[in-house]
Amino acid sequence: MIGDGVSRRGFLEVGGGVTAASLALTTGSAAALVQSGAAVRALGQEMPNDVELPAAPPRKKRADSVGFAIVGLGDYALKQMMPRFVQAERAHVAALVSGNPEKLNRVGDAYGIPRNARYSYETFANIAPDKQVEAVYIVLPSGLHAEWTTRAFAAGKHVLCEKPMALSSAECERMIAAGRRANRKLMIAYRSHFEPHNLQAMELMARGAAGQLRLLRTEQSYRMSPTSPSENWRVNRALTGGGALEDLGIYGLQAALYLTREMPESISATTFRPAGDPRFSEIFAQVSSQWRFPSGAVAQLATSYDSSGANFVHARGTTGALIMDPATNYSGQKMTLEAGGGREFQSGDPTVQFARQLDHFVDAIREGVRIRTPGEMGLRDLRLIEAIYASAAAGRTVRLNPDATIRS
Ligand code: NAD
Repeated sequence: MIGDGVSRRGFLEVGGGVTAASLALTTGSAAALVQSGAAVRALGQEMPNDVELPAAPPRKKRADSVGFAIVGLGDYALKQMMPRFVQAERAHVAALVSGNPEKLNRVGDAYGIPRNARYSYETFANIAPDKQVEAVYIVLPSGLHAEWTTRAFAAGKHVLCEKPMALSSAECERMIAAGRRANRKLMIAYRSHFEPHNLQAMELMARGAAGQLRLLRTEQSYRMSPTSPSENWRVNRALTGGGALEDLGIYGLQAALYLTREMPESISATTFRPAGDPRFSEIFAQVSSQWRFPSGAVAQLATSYDSSGANFVHARGTTGALIMDPATNYSGQKMTLEAGGGREFQSGDPTVQFARQLDHFVDAIREGVRIRTPGEMGLRDLRLIEAIYASAAAGRTVRLNPDATIRS
């Protein structure tokens, strides 16, 4: 538990004409805030706390199942995603990549991964001829996503990459180009696109269940305390970017886009760091932004690493409101439509989001199905994140093109 009794896990479970270049010149480089450091590299970490490894290796999958190599055996990989492969129809864990040999072997033994399919960061390139591995799942600190996605493409594998896709739009563009060169698929692991409540929310908004959308508010926050390996890198700008926005606020950013189905035409934003707090010497404690959409709808997004836990999305239209609280957790989603007498939705089991995301990527690899959350979506979101930081740094509204680049 952290701070106000809210843990990281608790959070998840329960004026125009400003160019990027001119902002960089006037603000001491807003873009530099979201650049990853050249010295950052993949390093083995200890086993996260409270990991439950399978008592027996998972059963073999059908012949056309896609084998994934998991790169980075941390909290999310070991506690959420790896256990969920069992529920996927055509995806299985075929290889592991870690810089900690002891953890690698413990996890490898528990999941029945052959010794010759256990790689270190140094031996990763040997994965290329391994036919059992068709896809690589990148679950490393965010500042390492771009490098390891590019390496996986160089090894001829498809890539499922965790959010945020990277720490800058330039990195995202390089990742997309590397995938095209290798003729391999790239998907960003935006699990809410596979979660029943969020899918139903998209559908409700699309058919005007709350009338014309006017006001949207999102908040994702918890009080962080860098006392575990999983938290330590989250205060390091080169590994995490600006902080809470890339890590948590990105869920609100995504919801604002998939509920309005519009791109903002302008953004104004502010950032804050409490003075003298060592947690925030490199990153922001909180970021808030206001977006204006072409329809006239306005979204207010707030995210914080220094306030008690919240994860909600409120979408208010001319005839009602959709309240999602919690909105994008691993489980326990609650969603109410306040219109026509009010109605609470039980859209389905939220925990199917993990396996459905995997099966969707397999459908793209095997059947050529169009990826719902492609690299281009990750790039769009990094452009918006850059626009938020640019606006906050310049202290004025930033106007955007439809592709989320800053309008010149
Ligand atoms: P974590 O620290 O628990 O795991 C990261 C792992 O990366 C470590 O265990 C370690 O094995 C490896 N690693 C390699 N080089 C490292 C370095 N230099 N510093 C630290 N670790 C290094 O973090 P996590 O919470 O599992 O997050 C990993 C990624 O997954 C992040 O990009 C995060 O945004 C994403 N994530 C996504 C969700 C989701 O719901 N989609 C949830 C949590 C995390």
